[in-house]
Amino acid sequence: MVPTSTVSYLDYNATTPVLPEVAAAVAASLADFGNPSSVHGFGRRARAMVEEAREAVAALVGAGPGQVIFTSGGTEANALAVQGIAAAAGCEAVLASSVEHSSVLAHVAAANCIAVDGTGAIDLEALERALKRQVAPVLVAVMLANNETGTVQPVADAAALAHKYGALMHCDAVQGPGKMAVNMVALGVDSLSLSAHKLGGLKGCGALVVREGLALAPQLTGGGQERRRRAGTENVPGIVGFGAAARQEPRQRAAMARIGALRDDLEARLMVDVRQARIFSRGAARLGNTVCVALPGVSSETQVMRLDLAGVAVSAGSACSSGKIAASHVLLAMGVNPALAKCAIRISLGWDTTAADIARFLACWEPLATNAAA
Ligand code: PLP
Repeated sequence: MVPTSTVSYLDYNATTPVLPEVAAAVAASLADFGNPSSVHGFGRRARAMVEEAREAVAALVGAGPGQVIFTSGGTEANALAVQGIAAAAGCEAVLASSVEHSSVLAHVAAANCIAVDGTGAIDLEALERALKRQVAPVLVAVMLANNETGTVQPVADAAALAHKYGALMHCDAVQGPGKMAVNMVALGVDSLSLSAHKLGGLKGCGALVVREGLALAPQLTGGGQERRRRAGTENVPGIVGFGAAARQEPRQRAAMARIGALRDDLEARLMVDVRQARIFSRGAARLGNTVCVALPGVSSETQVMRLDLAGVAVSAGSACSSGKIAASHVLLAMGVNPALAKCAIRISLGWDTTAADIARFLACWEPLATNAAA
């Protein structure tokens, strides 16, 4: 639960409140403090909790428990895929959409970034051209849904193309669960990243789910945990919380109909009241909870700070590096003018969001727009 009704948390794509069911499961797990690798009763109880959570996380994406490798979050899961899977398969390059999360893009050469259209959806023809050009095996990475715009990518089509040309396919599905159904088989991907804190779990816990039998070079070595695919004593409370969050996921998704209607009302209101507002990816297949909107002439930093003072938490659609506000790489890849991109914010709704939260946002944001226009 978000603590008080005098503040409005509209930043669910950054992280979500910890679900009460997760908090209870985590608290209960602390009493069983054993190391899951220990053979005594303490260890066996901890192991049982980890394996129970593994089943819930696997079921979340239509996979089997043996396919789940617990990690320290989405970032590590992505790194394990683009480094560990790519290395084991002898892939010489990673091709990725230009709107991927930075944890993927950090491993991709600029020349291997695949263009997106004006809504942020990957250009499948450009992907096919890039695949045709490859002389050595490659790994393709396309995210399920973009964290900034909510644009849902044609992952199954991209996977079919990747496999047609003998490439492997990884999907960063971190923003999917809780907002849309995610099924690894339907997506046809070789691996998929998840992060617990995007669906009511704890930060610092995630998973890479891999196709049965897929070779992987571990990036953390030493112990034999996670079937020798990721060394290190398991984060038992985080994993238990992840399992509890996965079991609650259908309830979060059920709330999306209500949240989607709130989001659509908000956008409709913005279009009428704030003529200069620019909403991105509006016509695209999109997560129902996300709005990415720019207010020309008002920096995203100013908007985020003013909203924060009014008790409304949103994100800047831009990143701060070396003291300068940089335009979001996602919006730039979509062809958005850099000056406009620096005026973008992301509003992301979730299961606790109410019409009162939207009203509080509008009460603060609309005057900003009026002042900018004056
Ligand atoms: N991928 C996407 C699309 C994300 O939105 C995020 C987090 O914002 C990550 C990866 C990284 O996940 P984590 O915070 O668990 O490292």
